[in-house]
Amino acid sequence: MNTEYQKITGNPAEDEAAISRAAQIIRAGGLVAIPTETVYGLAGSALIPESALKIYEAKGRPADNPLIVHIAAPADAAKIAYPNALYDRLAARFMPGPLTVILKKRDIIPPTVTAGLDTVAIRCPSNSVAHRLIAVSGHPIAAPSANRSGVPSPTSAEHVRADMDGRIDMILDGGECEIGLESTVIRLDGDDACTILRPGAVTADMLAAVCREVTVSPAAVEPSLADDEHPESPGMKYKHYAPKANVILIDADESVFLRYVREHGTGRYGVLVPNEDAGYFPEGVLLLTGSRGDAKEYARRLFSLLRRADEMRLETVFAKLPPKTDEYLALYNRIIRAAGCRILKISG
Ligand code: AMP
Ligand code: MG
Repeated sequence: MNTEYQKITGNPAEDEAAISRAAQIIRAGGLVAIPTETVYGLAGSALIPESALKIYEAKGRPADNPLIVHIAAPADAAKIAYPNALYDRLAARFMPGPLTVILKKRDIIPPTVTAGLDTVAIRCPSNSVAHRLIAVSGHPIAAPSANRSGVPSPTSAEHVRADMDGRIDMILDGGECEIGLESTVIRLDGDDACTILRPGAVTADMLAAVCREVTVSPAAVEPSLADDEHPESPGMKYKHYAPKANVILIDADESVFLRYVREHGTGRYGVLVPNEDAGYFPEGVLLLTGSRGDAKEYARRLFSLLRRADEMRLETVFAKLPPKTDEYLALYNRIIRAAGCRILKISG
């Protein structure tokens, strides 16, 4: 298949033409990779059962891992699911934005989209291209991350091209993703409680502003990938986000971590460190995560750095285990999976 490539340039007429063309592809049952504020999504109509099958096929995604459905306005959730009062409060505060809410689905959403579950994951993206595409197509849009299953999610159109060229109809290039990690996924537990199934940019502390009880699912933060486990968010059970390089995740103080990597870094290795630590290593091994303490910048760069490690043909990537705090939880969740959930604990 020839994959059409369209760049969003900021020229209103050209951009509208590119988006119209993409909407036409979606309505005809085809697939388009689109920018969102989290990561690039692989978009197909959520109303056409075969579109979901094509998404699984293009990604090589296990069929038991349901897709997120993207809507143009928070109120559109009522057309495909059964929102409650808590959904309305969350929508008023966090939508459009990087929050996905799981609701009981209506029959209009085919089982291929939800992997047979009676619930559907719903998100309203804030990215203007994604928003416009959903509005123009007139369909809710199923869109998982636009990577081949298992590898780091794409945060630029180049990443998508590397994974999907020849496998999908079109790539809309809207530049780099602002957030860089996938959305927060939550389950609602009645009208005043929710559970985080996948941490993201909307954190537990933020959710607590509109919801009395916020729980983080153990599956989202415990380093375990046992095959016999059935986490409620099926995507959390797979080795995920992993580069070809072996990611060695070290639980240690900063100085112990730096010393360990200086002693053990041999061959084709790289190290994820804040800009301030660049001086400890030769330039060729540096994978810089931004200023120390800037969790947002690290999140924005993580997947891109993991992909760069493969471009550099690194065999090993060392990383310090991020803190399990509210601010770093999404990073923690992604990086333990990139490391196959193995953590090396070293005490000073
Ligand atoms: P991705 O499409 O790559 O952003 O991944 C979507 C995430 O949402 C995966 O972790 C899925 O398992 C999760 N998800 C999607 N739909 C549901 C659902 N109905 N119930 C629980 N988790 C879901
Ligand atoms: Mg994904």
